[in-house]
Amino acid sequence: MARDPRYDVLFEPVKIGPVTAKNRFYQVPHCNGMGRSYPSSMAEMRRVKAEGGWAVVTTEEVEIHPSGDHSPWMGGRLWDDRDIPVFARMCDAVHAHGALAGCELNHAGVMAANRYSRDVPLAPSHIPVAMPDPVQARAMDLSDIHDLRRWHREAAVRARDAGFDIIYVYAGHQLSTISHFLSPYRNRRSDAYGGSLENRARLLREVLEDTRDAVGDTCAIALRFSVDELKGPDGITSDGEGRDLVEMLAELPDLWDVNISGWENDSATSRFKASGYQEDYIRWVKSVTSKPVVGVGRYTSPDAMVSLIKNGVLDFIGAARPSIADPFLPKKIEDGRVEDIRECIGCNICVSGDNTFVPIRCTQNPTMGEEWRKGWHPEKIAKAHAPESVLIVGAGPAGLEAARALGQRGYDVTLADRAQDLGGRLRSERLLPGLAEWGRVVDYRTWQISQMANVETFASSDMTEQSVREFGADHVVVSTGAHWTRDGIGRENPHAINIIDGSNILTPDDVMAGQRPSGPVTVFDDDHYYMGGLIAELLSKDGFDVTLVTPSTHVSEWAHNTLEQHRIQARLMGMGVKVMLSHNLIAVAPGTATVACGYTNATTVLEVESTVLVTMRSPVDGLYQVLSKASLPNLARIGDCLGPSTIAAAVYSGHRFARELGEPEMGNVPFRRELPALAPVIDSERQL
Ligand code: ADP
Ligand code: SF4
Repeated sequence: MARDPRYDVLFEPVKIGPVTAKNRFYQVPHCNGMGRSYPSSMAEMRRVKAEGGWAVVTTEEVEIHPSGDHSPWMGGRLWDDRDIPVFARMCDAVHAHGALAGCELNHAGVMAANRYSRDVPLAPSHIPVAMPDPVQARAMDLSDIHDLRRWHREAAVRARDAGFDIIYVYAGHQLSTISHFLSPYRNRRSDAYGGSLENRARLLREVLEDTRDAVGDTCAIALRFSVDELKGPDGITSDGEGRDLVEMLAELPDLWDVNISGWENDSATSRFKASGYQEDYIRWVKSVTSKPVVGVGRYTSPDAMVSLIKNGVLDFIGAARPSIADPFLPKKIEDGRVEDIRECIGCNICVSGDNTFVPIRCTQNPTMGEEWRKGWHPEKIAKAHAPESVLIVGAGPAGLEAARALGQRGYDVTLADRAQDLGGRLRSERLLPGLAEWGRVVDYRTWQISQMANVETFASSDMTEQSVREFGADHVVVSTGAHWTRDGIGRENPHAINIIDGSNILTPDDVMAGQRPSGPVTVFDDDHYYMGGLIAELLSKDGFDVTLVTPSTHVSEWAHNTLEQHRIQARLMGMGVKVMLSHNLIAVAPGTATVACGYTNATTVLEVESTVLVTMRSPVDGLYQVLSKASLPNLARIGDCLGPSTIAAAVYSGHRFARELGEPEMGNVPFRRELPALAPVIDSERQL
């Protein structure tokens, strides 16, 4: 199909200094948990983006020197020439599709404890590092500043030699030494590099000029700058020094890549911020510079993108997460297939990969991070070897994705669910406060399936051993999910807690089904992701007196990995939810819940009418067990029915099943691995 002419403007070429981007789709730098440790995975992931139509594909942050060593985060590295081949591979792959490759050079300064290199960290002024390590960064003297400028210049040359077209100077997110100099938040200097904005911006200006001198004849120089740090007068603000800085350096870079700081504000989750919320901060930038401007906002709608261009807000539609959820987003718009876009849901599971030091994963796109190691392409999949039928029981995220991908392979698929609507756990979870966008996991898949003649769906179909047998499919996949348990067993309590008869116990399933406590309520969160906090929020909104008890030291602790823990805890406390940290629930009786301090074991009796247990989920695997005992051939289980986990894990599980059906087994390790090349043995005696 031809693209809608309304979207033509998105496909205009744009000049960036000495290079030209073929359209306005710009994948801004984003971490991926692969970087230097899994370089082939990183390069193939970036290649797929270029294939999907992004005109610019950039790296994550790339360290320029061991004194800015971000270990254990897996960013890129251009410390010396031996690091060039990793990025040459990425550049070649990106260029093969006519896209430009960009490199975000960075010296992380006070953000890095230099855990691997053991160098003393560097900062504008003496200050402890931002990681919790008992390590201080030392104030840089003029020779350190001179060194940093040299390291950046040398890294820029390496980046150019690797093949990059756009070289970044990074002054954003409070993640770079340059941004630490720039912001009054960390710069307490009284020399020519501290005090006035002009002084604090001196290092940035010098590095921009150095980079231009070094590589500016062939490479574009991009400046990534956070126009607001959301710290009020303690930091840079969009209507104050942020604007002054852009005015001051307006024509110096070839491109402005603007956002807000810190990373948790730039990549806010959909639970807290709507798509496009950064627009208010950055809409003036284009009026101050003649250079092209890229900005982000989790944009997935081509109409919104067109209005950003036509209204003069941006020249490029920047995207990290939308390009992760759908690497083929530009191509789908170009091909007139807008309804096939797999829209990002704003959950930040992608960020959690980086924060837990493993390759990126995505709730919506199960192939993300698997492009090289499993050879999974986001759009292509092997055809079925035989015209076989598959019955899938359970239409949650796992069943829906299995049906979609098996349908794409050409299998004859039937998807049955006992509920009136498809969606499984997301039927109710998408109704929780702030999770509406998560429904896109269901909407994308139900739409795709509805377009496939070889996939049939049956709602309100409770499947039993007998009906499964009568159906007579060649393969049966059970994806019947999991339910929250009501005995208190979980991380903290390996055995059932003492619950006296007559106690009012609820689970998240009960609350989501509409049941409510009979009075003041304790929410016991031993799960630590979003559910405990959301149940507390929901009940508090409904007017209940809520106490959230958790053995953790933070509310919704795992949500640190999705950059939203702080917001969750702040919201609950702001609503008046009482929070008891480091406490375990040990007993429930009618009218009371007894909790114990995790350090002293001192007990407290809470006067509550009801207790919600957010502890663990148990697989709904009765149908699977009965079919398995009856030795039904070609039987499998996937998703939460196999092992309760995140929605991302369920989608992955469904996709994996679909990929592997009818294919040869891959052995113990079902993916490619890239092993470090062993260095020659050193002569240790001579070394000593
Ligand atoms: P997952 O996250 O693994 O996809 P969900 O819990 O979201 O799992 O979805 C499981 C789905 O399975 C639910 O929609 C539920 O109604 C359905 N289901 C469970 N048992 C049966 C059954 N015996 N017959 C049909 N559908 C079932
Ligand atoms: Fe979007 Fe979630 Fe995928 Fe990240 S993991 S790209 S936030 S859908």
